[in-house]
Amino acid sequence: MENDSCVAHAPITLLPSPIPKRLYQECLDIQPIISSLMLKIANDHAFIEETLVDIVKVDSFTKELLSVNHRVQKEGVAQPIVSCINRSDYMLDKYVERDLVSSKEIEALRMRHVEVNAIASAMAPHSVNTSRLHSYLMSKYKVKACEQFNPQVPENNSLNLIVQGLIDAFDAYNQPNSQILFVTEDRSYNFSDHMIIEQKLYEKRPDIRVVRRKFTILNGTIELGPNKELLLDNKSTIMKEIAVVYYRYGYDPSNYTSHLAWDTRLLIERSRSIKCPSINFHLSGVKKFQQVLNGKEQLERFLPSSDAEKLNQVFCKFWSIDPKSAIGQEGFELGLNSPQNLVLKPQREGGGHNIFGDDISPFLNSLASSDERYQYILMEMINSPKANNWLMLYDDDFSEKTDLSNSMDQLVSELGIYGSILADGSQELNNHSAGYLVRSKKFGVKEGGVASGHAGISSLVLIDDTKIGSEFQKIFV
Ligand code: ADP
Ligand code: MG
Repeated sequence: MENDSCVAHAPITLLPSPIPKRLYQECLDIQPIISSLMLKIANDHAFIEETLVDIVKVDSFTKELLSVNHRVQKEGVAQPIVSCINRSDYMLDKYVERDLVSSKEIEALRMRHVEVNAIASAMAPHSVNTSRLHSYLMSKYKVKACEQFNPQVPENNSLNLIVQGLIDAFDAYNQPNSQILFVTEDRSYNFSDHMIIEQKLYEKRPDIRVVRRKFTILNGTIELGPNKELLLDNKSTIMKEIAVVYYRYGYDPSNYTSHLAWDTRLLIERSRSIKCPSINFHLSGVKKFQQVLNGKEQLERFLPSSDAEKLNQVFCKFWSIDPKSAIGQEGFELGLNSPQNLVLKPQREGGGHNIFGDDISPFLNSLASSDERYQYILMEMINSPKANNWLMLYDDDFSEKTDLSNSMDQLVSELGIYGSILADGSQELNNHSAGYLVRSKKFGVKEGGVASGHAGISSLVLIDDTKIGSEFQKIFV
């Protein structure tokens, strides 16, 4: 959308997306464990250093993030309370298992964790509205493909959760006249996502004031007070003390256009405001941790055995491709010789950075033995089932499609589960899981972002089984 005076609807699917109830519940249940794991990583600075030490040789963005963390730790943290509104993303994986009764091989479904988003986890308001829309459509029209499943769109509480997370952080700061700062991009395509959160916050707590500011213009308008309070507009007559900084930006190198942007980030992190997330929590979402914590034993470094087992059940396999270790060389050769079921990922967020399947070998060939290899990890490819639905991107033209039922799209979906955690040092003050986001894209499309135009927002219908049998054929094709 190039014209600032126009708005477009968020891309959506016409129907909700089917997900087995048991697998959905599994993702909801493990969300607090994931937030706890992130907190533990965030507090283990030696582990962060040791994991990222080689990456920062070749990745200047991660290097800057780590340097901000260093400087804050060295100076002494002004605010021990941290908040993180995060989202874990999953895809259904179709695999073959042996049936215990018949001992035949059958196709079944399981959940596979894609990644965790530690900063700027968006789309909760749209996901709530899409769930409402789908709930209404399912009650008004009989959807043939779903008839026998008595489909229900589960309640979606994600907006409430996020708003409550911000309120809890505000109350923990305990300074009634302070405010919440939303840090935004210069040109916000998804401004309504922010505005709905702001509106909900107002409904719940009209006493809390929110100020939205572009990241690029914060420099020169923020400063530290005598007790490291974060003061906004101190030079004007309406100075604001900031209780909570809610980052909706700052996750990509392109967000830091000059060194002034890094100065801004450092100043915020040094302040007494509660950051959502703080720099160390932001770092806990770096993808390299998925590879390093691959396996139950590795997870037991941070989690009780039963929790480590639960996460291990849904985590994918990962390989390092580091240039100077035997294990990295093994991963590298795997990617070079059998890349079909693999995804190569750098340490980046926001879509558009991954390399899939057969494109991996030529790319790895171009890296050869260079240190650039440190910034990538290899991940097993998730084999998602397709479901019939209609994807409505904002510029789609439906006028020529007279028979919609014969032109259904085959979509694959990604389930996001939101989490909100507030902690004082290593002590969890609260840790919630609630609400979901479903993004659906056409089968065969590799990347999955809504903002990038690949996917639409969907919702869920919960179905009872995880086996792909005859009665499922109408939904999973
Ligand atoms: P980003 O931080 O850029 O969002 P992701 O790890 O979420 O990176 O990958 C982007 C998209 O690529 C996902 O939304 C998903 O559609 C697809 N994807 C990522 N990992 C896998 C995988 N292992 N198997 C299949 N598709 C994947
Ligand atoms: Mg993602």
